[in-house]
Amino acid sequence: MLNSLRSIVQEVNAARDLPKALAIIVTRVKRAMQTQVCSVYLRGPSNDYVLMATDGLQQQAVGRVRMMLGQGLVGRVATREEPVNLEDAEAHPAYQYFPETGEEHFSSFLGVPIIHHRQVLGVLVVQQSERRRFDEGDEAFLVTMSAQLAGVIAHAEATGTMVAVGAAAAQTRFVGVSGAPGIAIGESVVVAPLADLKGVPYQRCEDIDAELAFFKRCLNAVRDDIKALGEQLEGRLNREERALFDAYLAMLDDAALGGEVTNRIREGTCAPYAWSEVILEHENNFADMDDAYLRERATDVRDLGRRVLAYLQESNQSCKIYPENTILIGDELTASMLGEVPESKLAGLVSVQGSGNSHVAILARAMGIPTVMGAIDLPYTRMDGRPVIVDGYKGVVYSDPGKQLRKHYQAIAKEELELVKGLEALKDLPCETLDHYRLPLWVNTGLMADVVRSLERGAEGVGLYRTEVPFLLRDRFPSEEEQRVIYREQLEAFAPHTVTMRTLDIGGDKALPYFPIQEDNPFLGWRGIRVTLDHPEIFLAQIRAMIKASSGLDNLRILLPMISSVSELEQSKALIYRAYNELLEEGYEVNLPPLGVMIEVPAAVYQARELAARVDFLSVGSNDLTQYLLAVDRNNARVADQYQAFHPAVLRALQQVVSDGHTQGVSVGICGELAGDPGAAILLMAMGYDVLSMNATNLPKVKSVIRAINLAQAEALLEDVMHLVEAEQVRARIDQMLQDIGVNRVVRPLELDA
Ligand code: PEP
Ligand code: MG
Repeated sequence: MLNSLRSIVQEVNAARDLPKALAIIVTRVKRAMQTQVCSVYLRGPSNDYVLMATDGLQQQAVGRVRMMLGQGLVGRVATREEPVNLEDAEAHPAYQYFPETGEEHFSSFLGVPIIHHRQVLGVLVVQQSERRRFDEGDEAFLVTMSAQLAGVIAHAEATGTMVAVGAAAAQTRFVGVSGAPGIAIGESVVVAPLADLKGVPYQRCEDIDAELAFFKRCLNAVRDDIKALGEQLEGRLNREERALFDAYLAMLDDAALGGEVTNRIREGTCAPYAWSEVILEHENNFADMDDAYLRERATDVRDLGRRVLAYLQESNQSCKIYPENTILIGDELTASMLGEVPESKLAGLVSVQGSGNSHVAILARAMGIPTVMGAIDLPYTRMDGRPVIVDGYKGVVYSDPGKQLRKHYQAIAKEELELVKGLEALKDLPCETLDHYRLPLWVNTGLMADVVRSLERGAEGVGLYRTEVPFLLRDRFPSEEEQRVIYREQLEAFAPHTVTMRTLDIGGDKALPYFPIQEDNPFLGWRGIRVTLDHPEIFLAQIRAMIKASSGLDNLRILLPMISSVSELEQSKALIYRAYNELLEEGYEVNLPPLGVMIEVPAAVYQARELAARVDFLSVGSNDLTQYLLAVDRNNARVADQYQAFHPAVLRALQQVVSDGHTQGVSVGICGELAGDPGAAILLMAMGYDVLSMNATNLPKVKSVIRAINLAQAEALLEDVMHLVEAEQVRARIDQMLQDIGVNRVVRPLELDA
């Protein structure tokens, strides 16, 4: 059972459009369940359920038979959101007869809902002419099948819409979560890791002869590689093993894979896509075979597929031309992918994976690039070169937007531009309330580009310099001297203002390409201080570089990430003193910088007093703290809705940290993304946070809101929201306050709701 489940899902997954996917589902499920009919009904635009594919009913009924919610047995499955299993369907009061299906022969009926993201997408039905009570096992099989197929169908449905429309593409909407606010209107460029067969963007080719010649050249290059490899291994392999190389060469021939791809190129599909399509189909055919030897051949096909694809893509790489207003789209965008697009051309970002607190989203916010994350149903491989609108406020992406939608978003973009201009005037004004309560606003940095942006926006210090960013952009650990130079640049740029440098925080979703960490549960694994305490050589070099860089400036503070116990702090302090004393002995004229810990693990919240008693300052990392308090992976699109920074439990933790820290007389700041949310900033100020550190893009927005309110008003708001029990209520109460003081436009353009 498990095998047929797996192979059906795999086969459906490989189908590149909805009709193909549905055809596979109905034939394969019918066969696996040894029944006479299998049909799929999908919800249409007017909320009716339409027969979309069948194996067993009359084909002419497809597209014609439709049932409203609650109507007929199919409608009943959809309304109840649970299976209906009947031995004698006609006897059921909800039974409805459609002559075009030829259905009178079938008396047994088992229907299960196809549910995706809590929405009933459709109904999967099996039927049988003789009375058959589908047993519990049948029902469980169909439910399992449907749960697995739901995501695939949702994806294929979206792809199907785009494929079917061809030249006159229809406007399509895809939902994700907000990664960075703002509106971008532009043209999509799909990026995928090289040699990833499933991630090849679909492109049409204009010059078919040139494409065929290019394909041939790539095949020849692979042939040469394979021959060379075979020769190298001669003597070390037996005859049978050597035969594999001949098999590879044969597969490339015109009579085999090569020929199939050539035909698709002749129909106008670009070579990389045509190649990946053929390979995936063959790989699936092999994977589906009963014979173990033949099943293994799926691996060979995939291997060969990747080799050729690497050539096809490599030759295309160098000539990549990015359009003005590039919207970069990918399955899992990374910081280095952003780096490849010239900054002036990068208008927006869309990532299928990840969520609003993934590090790529944090980077996007810092750069002010409208971003949607976790658009899990986006058929990204079919989107290259399409016109796209990114609504970074709502977390929505539109492909092929119509005239009216375009006009609507152009108006929002215009309003945004005016707002940014208005905020520029605030640069030299202090961040203080109407009754003159001063609240320092600092910035989070990582890239050198952040420095200029931060200074332009009137930052008063750096609350978090993520040192892992320069580490991420290299192909080995930077040396102590290389680090010193980088850190000096930051410290000099902001002097005499404070720069808070956090020691290396890798692990989780921040993997260094040259120091891979493979773990099942990386956010609960070897992260932050745990890594650097295990590698004192890395930690010491970093601390020495920081302290040396601060010589003569004395504006450095050191911050430790992911501290979850006092002993971790004590061990870190011992290493910091050691590095400092070594530098003194070596003759450097340096001072010991203030030391702080990040409060980003629940254990640290409950030991905030003990930690505060041993350091000079605390800084709350609300991004991780939210993830760990709510047990919601900050990077997982599936649970992005549950990642609620305004959750009352998070607010209570934030309040406790600040009051516990203050009992020990230390400064307490916050450097998580929450600090850059203008509404949250009001609450944090009222809680008593001494410093808010945020991305440079949001700093003027926060300032304008703080300047529009009294401290007493903020305290009253805090008092109010601390009695609320749900994050949504907190958000609504804050939004109400922003509206009352007339600054709601700063957070969301008014046109957005027009
Ligand atoms: C945090 O966790 O809130 C934080 C500021 O650190 P990072 O986002 O880099 O994990
Ligand atoms: Mg963190």
